Amino acid sequence: DGLIWLDGEMVPWREAQTHVLTHTLHYGMGVFEGVRAYQTDRGAAIFRLQEHTDRLFNSAHILGMDMPWDRDTLNAAQCAVVRENGLDSAYLRPMCFYGPEGMGLRADNLKVHCVVAAWSWGSYLGEENMRNGIRVKFSSFTRHHVNITMCRAKANGNYMNSMLALQEAQRDGYDEALLLDASGYVMEGSGENVFIVRDGVLYTPDLTSALDGITRRTVITLAKEFGIEVVEKRITRDEVYIADEAFFTGTAAEVTPIREVDGRAIGAGTRGPITERLQSAYFDLVHGRDAA
Ligand code: PLP
Repeated sequence: DGLIWLDGEMVPWREAQTHVLTHTLHYGMGVFEGVRAYQTDRGAAIFRLQEHTDRLFNSAHILGMDMPWDRDTLNAAQCAVVRENGLDSAYLRPMCFYGPEGMGLRADNLKVHCVVAAWSWGSYLGEENMRNGIRVKFSSFTRHHVNITMCRAKANGNYMNSMLALQEAQRDGYDEALLLDASGYVMEGSGENVFIVRDGVLYTPDLTSALDGITRRTVITLAKEFGIEVVEKRITRDEVYIADEAFFTGTAAEVTPIREVDGRAIGAGTRGPITERLQSAYFDLVHGRDAA
């Protein structure tokens, strides 16, 4: 139930539909965002709204997709969806896709349609896992070429490997997958950036192949404010195994500790102290609270 913003209008949830010949459904050429709104003293507030909207427009630009709306309109649409659905916290999904106006790769009469939906969503990986950490498996799936050359775009077509990796990890009894890039370096989770801690220093893969995550940026800033050294570099699989701490970041996953990788305990095999500090600072920030 509730309302979804579709092509400039608020429509009832059930009526926000598209045709089976929707072009993006067939060929995967589309862009999207994952955004969260949090409860604050001043009501629901969307965290880093402008950064998400900017990334959405950059993704569209990379794909050569002409956006039918400007940034202000899509910002306003996101605020309206949260407000009109009476949500005090929410996960938002803006998405832009090619419609059913034409079929085949050569279609030249396609329209870009935009949608913003929002719903209540708690911890993506579970409350308890936020305290104790998750179990992760290095995936047998790597990012293919398109992902590496197009990794700045948060594009629908870039998520097949993520889905395959997550499916594989869950079938094998793990909570999440960690993907390597085509050169064998550690890249990211199915929908999260990854960090490790070693001897008090925070390391995360540089942006050669990982998505420029907004939570990643936020955590790097918080760590620097705490005087923690942050190094962005290529990371190998064995460096993860011998890390003192590890965690994922993402709008959905927030800051999720990793307690085990491929059956090997990370550090003490539970949420580490630096992870805990950054996680709690992240939650203070998104809820607009002064740090304790
Ligand atoms: N990496 C991938 C592949 C993602 O899909 C996401 C989710 O948006 C992230 C990383 C984390 O990015 P952000 O913190 O902006 O949500």
